[in-house]
Amino acid sequence: MSRRDCVWWGWGEPGAGPSLPDHAAGFLRAQLGVSGEVVSRAVALEEVRLREPSLPGALREQLAALAEVRDDAEARVVHCRGKSYLDLLRQRAGDCEDAPDAVVAPGTPEAVQAVLNACNEAGVAVVPFGGGTSVVGGLEPLRGTWSALVSLDLGRLDGVEAFDERSQLAWLRAGTRLPEADHALAAHGVMLGHTPQSYEWATVGGCVATRSAGQSSTGHGRIEENVVALRCATPAGPLENLAVPGTAAGPALKQLVIGSEGVLGAITSVGLRVHPLPEARRYEGFAFRDFEAGCEALRGLAQADSAPDIARLSDEAETRLSFALAGPGAKARAMGAVLRGRCVLVCGWEGTETAVAVRRKLAVRALRAAGGWPLGQAPGEAWAATRYAGPHLRDDLLDRGVMVETLETATTWSNLADLRAAVTRALEGCLAAPMVLCHASHVYPTGASLYFTAFAAQDYGDPAGQWTRAKTAAMDAIVATGGTITHHHAVGADHAPWLRAETGPLGHDVLRVLKDRCDPAGIMNPGKLLAG
Ligand SMILES: Cc1cc2nc3c(=O)[nH]c(=O)nc-3n(C[C@H](O)[C@H](O)[C@H](O)COP(=O)(O)OP(=O)(O)OC[C@H]3O[C@@H](n4cnc5c(N)ncnc54)[C@H](O)[C@@H]3O)c2cc1C
Repeated sequence: MSRRDCVWWGWGEPGAGPSLPDHAAGFLRAQLGVSGEVVSRAVALEEVRLREPSLPGALREQLAALAEVRDDAEARVVHCRGKSYLDLLRQRAGDCEDAPDAVVAPGTPEAVQAVLNACNEAGVAVVPFGGGTSVVGGLEPLRGTWSALVSLDLGRLDGVEAFDERSQLAWLRAGTRLPEADHALAAHGVMLGHTPQSYEWATVGGCVATRSAGQSSTGHGRIEENVVALRCATPAGPLENLAVPGTAAGPALKQLVIGSEGVLGAITSVGLRVHPLPEARRYEGFAFRDFEAGCEALRGLAQADSAPDIARLSDEAETRLSFALAGPGAKARAMGAVLRGRCVLVCGWEGTETAVAVRRKLAVRALRAAGGWPLGQAPGEAWAATRYAGPHLRDDLLDRGVMVETLETATTWSNLADLRAAVTRALEGCLAAPMVLCHASHVYPTGASLYFTAFAAQDYGDPAGQWTRAKTAAMDAIVATGGTITHHHAVGADHAPWLRAETGPLGHDVLRVLKDRCDPAGIMNPGKLLAG
């Protein structure tokens, strides 16, 4: 556990990362009615409420022979939960009563298996912990029927295990953080091509366990499209599949483990198809008269197989907010004023110089024909420079009494407008004077994902209830309108009540049978994924 940890009450490392610009205070005052001043901060570590750890002494000794074991307050608080708005409210208030009894960090795949065997025998719940960036309650220390719970920190399982240059296949240890994976792969001239907004902290194993999609997944594919093979330790023994490019040998076993969110076992290594480091990257912006026109343009690109690698279409409200909050620089804000009421699409291409030039030319021609107005590289470069800033700014917003949270879904092109309207209505109906923003990204020939951000003045009397009511209404609206309950954030504890609506009763039972076979006692990540 020697690697650096993210702060337990927010994002990043203390003092690192961008902050809200000074002029944001006025904007927040005008839009949300908050003062814009700092009104609350996280309690000090010494004030965090924690129960005494209750791991049986004999088990602690057994685990200590297999792995690093910590039960000090800091380790338990860091591993207490993830990074959703609700998680941060509780962490900042020092509410960590249920924190894991210990944090166990094995250094080899064999030690992971031995730790699971020991916990299984002792009847202790296990929550696999990758980068700790879950936003769906995936790390919540829910003990279920067990009296003790350990956080299985996979951070010591890191680095590149093997690289097959000829096959462009890299085996990575599950706990490798994405920037570190890319750093190591760069020495071989390749990259993951997987950049979720949580890139700075998320791990390879965590991304696979949550069926993650990154900002360039339109071009480089979602994580599951790049997983060639994986190895997973389960209480019933190791589960793995052959590293082959394709197979007709029955249902794809690896796809059952991808997205299993730690309820079957702990993924220890992943064989990933990697991508050549791009010679060229080009990011640029286009304006559309409205969101619908932008969506039509994206649909045309996706269906003609000419979508850029990155495509993010902000709706009118998100476009306005991003220019209003754009860093120092009157130029960006002036462009925002010119664009008032329009929508900005950011496109990005990555690859060889020739491929970028050829693909871009085709796409630009189609975008112009669809009514797109080229804005040049400035909006694209601004997006690229701030692509990981959101969660840093969220800490500042929480300090200023702002409720801010996101949710995401996906549907077909035919249903996209209805789904957007239903979710927006649900959020606006539950929150007093909110700002609800939306963007479409991750475009497919058959549809796209929709990503919503909601802002409101925090209800100091019941901040958790304020968001829980809004989120519940939004989830009900998603299910009623035929969207998926999650396009990339996963299910965790938060979305589990809606999973059955997506899988149907038999589908849910099939997943339950799989869980019962791999984890007969039910120690793995209780209350997640299949809780509903
Ligand atoms: C600000 C922010 C932005 C985000 N943006 C994106 C985005 O763009 N795209 C996206 O897909 N997601 C996004 N997420 C969600 C989150 O980052 C992803 O779900 C990510 O894949 C989680 O990786 P992690 O290593 O942090 O896993 P963790 O958060 O540690 O764990 C996630 C879940 O997987 C389980 N798990 C972790 N590691 C393993 C393992 N090795 N074996 C078995 N189970 C395991 C955990 O028990 C937990 O249930 C975002 C989150 C935040 C906070």
